[in-house]
Amino acid sequence: MTQVPTIALNNGVEIPQFGFGVFQVPPEDTAQVVRKAFDAGYRHIDTAQMYENEEGVGRAFADSGLSRDEVFITTKLGNDGHGHDAALRALDGSLARLGLEFVDLFLIHWPRPREGRYVETWQAFEKLAAEGKARSIGVSNFTVEHLERLAAETDTVPAVNQIELHPRFVQLELRDYHREHGIATEAWSPIGQGGDLLQDPTLTGLADKYGKSPAQVVLRWHVQLGNIVFPKSMRPERMRENIDVYDFELSDDDMQAVSALDTGSRTGPNPNTFG
Ligand code: NAD
Repeated sequence: MTQVPTIALNNGVEIPQFGFGVFQVPPEDTAQVVRKAFDAGYRHIDTAQMYENEEGVGRAFADSGLSRDEVFITTKLGNDGHGHDAALRALDGSLARLGLEFVDLFLIHWPRPREGRYVETWQAFEKLAAEGKARSIGVSNFTVEHLERLAAETDTVPAVNQIELHPRFVQLELRDYHREHGIATEAWSPIGQGGDLLQDPTLTGLADKYGKSPAQVVLRWHVQLGNIVFPKSMRPERMRENIDVYDFELSDDDMQAVSALDTGSRTGPNPNTFG
């Protein structure tokens, strides 16, 4: 089984670099799908309150026979949970659904800057970390502007920022900011949701060259950039394929060829307006 390396977050907590995301996994299928992901070697699960499948993740863990320190579980605050007291209550709800005493990582899912409460929400997250209900706290879909506001008005640098990131949207500016400030980069939709990106001739050409699939080439590109990834698949053979990227290395030229697919435009929602 693939040995996945860990990355040390800015608070010393180790996160497996390669995980499994459960966005759009139907709640009734989640326990079974996550059990298969554990069987395929995944030990890091990325869920969210908005995915409505935290119970299934918790059930899969409870049935797995794995100990708590063998798995890394992330969840994210729903968009209706902003504000100090609401955010504190919201994590209690997640812990009950997951059947856990703490999560490994709790993220603000979207900043909702027009609502203007993410600083207050972050101060509640700092308390949740101090209480041990979240071993690490971070954000998702934050821009440089949102991160700078947290830096100016609060005491804790987010451990991670989880952002849309794939070869068509390489997020150079944000990744540079993260590197300078000790924030780990998590890439969502790392293979572009499996769409036509994977038919791109550059990627199919590299797949032939390395004897891997286009998805594996893209995931290897992320791994070499130092990104944390958690592609989603309902199919056990693809779960195994996706995580099997630690036995080859893209050359510098090939890394650049993948990065050159950047179009500079996102496929998902704009963080300044979403939610
Ligand atoms: P993804 O890039 O992981 O693509 C998943 C899709 O690609 C699958 O549904 C399947 O159709 C296809 N696929 C999977 N493996 C494949 C393979 N080997 N070959 C060909 N096709 C394959 O997209 P995603 O699910 O959107 O993102 C991954 C995770 O990121 C999510 O499950 C979730 O945990 C997280 N996420 C977070 C946010 C956020 O706002 N923070 C947004 C979207 C996703």
